[in-house]
Amino acid sequence: MYQKDILERIRHPVDRDRWVAGAALVNAFYSPNTNEIIFPAGILQPVFYNKHFPRSMNYGGIGVVIGHEITHGSDKIKNKCAKFDDRGRLYDNKGNIRQWWDNATVVKFEEKAKCIEDQYSSYVLDQISMRINGRSTKGENIADNGGLKQAYRAYKKYESFHPIPQQLPGVNLTQDQLFFLNYAQIWCGVMNDKEAVRKLRTSEHSPGPIR
Ligand SMILES: [Zn+2]
Repeated sequence: MYQKDILERIRHPVDRDRWVAGAALVNAFYSPNTNEIIFPAGILQPVFYNKHFPRSMNYGGIGVVIGHEITHGSDKIKNKCAKFDDRGRLYDNKGNIRQWWDNATVVKFEEKAKCIEDQYSSYVLDQISMRINGRSTKGENIADNGGLKQAYRAYKKYESFHPIPQQLPGVNLTQDQLFFLNYAQIWCGVMNDKEAVRKLRTSEHSPGPIR
């Protein structure tokens, strides 16, 4: 059914109002073809977000996810559309394939992207003693780094004009520690060795412990 749905859309103009995911899904997306970011209702719950969580935890959770998708995506300045990851930049603000950066920017970008690639290629997933493929996970790693930085800076900005809340009872952690603790928590999980190997060979995302 899903495949049929995709095939039926070939050669038709992009439907910009189409929902690409069900509301219950716990995930978030950036779609270069429509230049949109999608947060299904399902991700707006713990551990990503809760209205009773300290803000530090929400910024370290859903805040990082929002920053991640923005990094894949776009920043509209004066009708220009700056896309930051290695594929986003190939699309213009309408979602059409059109590289609009000048060559000097591309060279500089590739230089910095190589840095991320080398960094992740040096990481080993301890569980199976296997190296991360820094090339195939590059776009996602760029989004992870961009997202974490943006969310942390946004939290510090929020903190600068709001009183810092009391520490949680029985939890001897600062707000900064809670931010990073919840960030770690969103990638907490277990997988068996076979799944870990499959993930390293096929996924565009680095595995949880590396993220
Ligand atoms: Zn992503």
